[in-house]
Parts: sequence; structure tokens; C-alpha cells
Amino acid sequence: MKFLELFFGLQGTVISSLILLPIFLLMLLISINLFKRRRKKSYLTLSIALVLTLIDHGISISHSFMTSESSYLIWIERSITALGDCAFFLLILGLYQLYHTNVAHIQWIFYTLCAAAFGIVFLNDWVQIGFVMAFLLTIWFIFGRHIGSDHKFRWAIFTFFVIEGLQVWSEYKQHENSLWVSFLVKVLPVLSYSILFFILLERVIEVMQKSYMQSITDALTGLFNRRHLYENVEKSVKAGQSVSIIFIDIDNFKKLNDTKGHKAGDEVLKQVASIFREEVDGIGIAARYGGEEMVALIRDKKIEMKQLTERIRFRIEKETNPGVTASIGYSYREDGISHDELITQADKAMYQAKTTGKNKVVRYIATPVIT
Ligand code: GH3
Ligand code: MG
Ligand code: MG
Repeated sequence: MKFLELFFGLQGTVISSLILLPIFLLMLLISINLFKRRRKKSYLTLSIALVLTLIDHGISISHSFMTSESSYLIWIERSITALGDCAFFLLILGLYQLYHTNVAHIQWIFYTLCAAAFGIVFLNDWVQIGFVMAFLLTIWFIFGRHIGSDHKFRWAIFTFFVIEGLQVWSEYKQHENSLWVSFLVKVLPVLSYSILFFILLERVIEVMQKSYMQSITDALTGLFNRRHLYENVEKSVKAGQSVSIIFIDIDNFKKLNDTKGHKAGDEVLKQVASIFREEVDGIGIAARYGGEEMVALIRDKKIEMKQLTERIRFRIEKETNPGVTASIGYSYREDGISHDELITQADKAMYQAKTTGKNKVVRYIATPVIT
């Protein structure tokens, strides 16, 4: 038997559905899982669309085994097609909702299209096919640029359009139905649905990454947040690494807010954060600890801490506008101290810088215990 013959007739339908099944199931599992965790409308729409798609494929396969010619079967056949079309419309809506929230009116257009898909089962096959082709063309032009990246979505829509076109062709030339046409009609959906699957996957990874970054960073300065810093300091201290902590507090910040306004204060915070991040990048992590306090964990033990902190202090004094200064403390990890203590030591050093004139750097030195 030739390879192309595998995809002919009923056998072709079954093989094509079996290849598509894992794609649908994977998409459904991802959508249900995400809906359970995030309660977003898009995941619900996608789940419903995929359940309908699976039902549609199940019914289509079992229906293909029936050979009866009775006329009422035409209605059933067209209703199955309408169910498939409706599932497809909802799938596109779900993908659109992944990228756009608050689209109630668009949602209702799609629901109306679903109702219309069932409404036209009383007309004929050509109307059904024409309806889907018109939908694909509209979607290609209107949503093409708004879903996914790299024109993937447009390629998927294009292949769906080719499939519909080939179906028209095979209906029209019923007697000389070529193996190639039948092969493409059965195999192209695998390509189209794979593209849609990748769009879903890509978007999910993008959203996850974004929400992870939001959970570990500070919105104003873009530095890591206090919790992320704590977790990292704790890990390093537990692993016995030779790490150090830098603690920065901007001098007279309240006065700056009072005289120049909160907005100018925010601007300076961003400038200081940017200097801090630049200096710490590659040797550790910088975080916003609270209001105008920033803390860094330095992992590179070869770093000359006195030079580094002096450079940070100098740059803050020279590069900020409106100009501010900062008091800086730093501490080295020693055996037997916890991550909390290590940060507190740097804080104490910063406090000493603050109480002995500000705009300076102080290294934490433990007070010797006299026994
Ligand atoms: P010192 O030199 O002793 O550190 O004086 P200070 O005024 O900097 O110290 P203090 O800690 O009393 O004041 C910190 C101020 O930082 C108080 C608060 O209004 C301001 N602040 C905290 N978070 C923000 C923020 O996100 N934006 C702005 N603009 N101001 C903030
Ligand atoms: Mg402070
Ligand atoms: Mg301050």
C-alpha cells in the first residue's frame, strides 16, 4: 500500500484524528490546569473549545462508520460540522483572550458566530464551507497581528483556509478525487493545530515568566524585592559561602520629598537603584529593602568591598539629580552567624555612617568581647 493511501477515506480520518488527539489533550490539560490556578477567562474558553473539539472528533469518527444513506443523516452530519466550527471559533476566541482582556463585545461576536454555525445546518454544505472560509479570511485580516508572534497565527489560519479550499475542490471533483488532496485534507490540520498549540505554549511561558519576575522584583526601581534577597542570603549563608552584604540608606530623603515633591523623590530612587544595579550586576544581586533602603548580596569573594562601596557612594553623590548622598555599611559573613545577623551587621555599619556625618562608607567590625 502506498503511503498516501493510508490517508484515504475512513482510515485516513481515523489516522488523522489519532495524530491530533495528543495535541488536543495536551492543550486541554494545560488550559484546565491554568484555569484552576488563575481563573482567567481565556483558559476557560480554551478548555470548553477543546472539550467540544474532542467531542466533535469522537462523533465524526463513530459517524464515519455508519453507512446508512437516509436523509436525516445529512442534518446530523451538518450538525457535527457545526459543532466542529463552533469549537474552532471558541478556540480562536480563547487564543485572542490570552493576549487581550476586557473584550466582552468580541466575545459576544464569537458566541453569535457559534449560534449562526448551527443556524445554517438547514441550508446546504456550500453555505457551511463558505461561512467558515469567510470567518478565516476575516480573522486573518483583523486578528492576524494581535495573536502570537512571528506570524505564526496567520500561518495557522492560512493552512485552515487551504484545508477548506481543498474540501471544496474534492466535493466539486468527486469522481477524480486525488490521493494528494485527501492526504493534505487529513494531514494539514495536524500542522495548523500544532501551530496553535505552540502559540498557547509560548504565551503561557511568557505569562509565567512575567508573573514570576513580578513576584521577585520591586515595581518602582526594578530591583529584586526584600523577600527574594532574604531567600538568596539565607541560601548562601547555609551553604557556608564567603558572601558580603552592602546596606545603603539615602541621606535626608524625607527633606527631598518635602522640598521637591514625591515624584522627584521617586526619580532619585530609580537613579540610585540603577547605579546600585550596575555596580552589583555579575557579582551579586541588588534589592530594594524598604522605602529608600537598598541592600545587595555580593557573592564574588574576590571583590574589594571598600573600593566597590566607595565607588557606589561617589557615583550616587555625583550622578543623581536632584543630587543626594547615601550612607553605606557593609559586612562579611563569618562562621556561626545567621543570614538575619549578617544583614543586621551591615545595617548597623550603615547606621554608624549615618550617625557620624552621613555620605560615607563604614565596614562592620564586631566589638571585641572582653572575658
Ligand atoms: P536619614 O538621612 O536619617 O536617612 O533621613 P531620611 O529622611 O532619609 O530618613 P527616613 O527614614 O526618616 O525617611 C525616609 C523617607 O523615605 C520617608 C518616606 O517619605 C520616604 N519614602 C519611602 N518610600 C518612598 C518612595 O517609594 N518614594 C518616595 N518618593 N519617598 C519614599
Ligand atoms: Mg531609611
Ligand atoms: Mg534615609
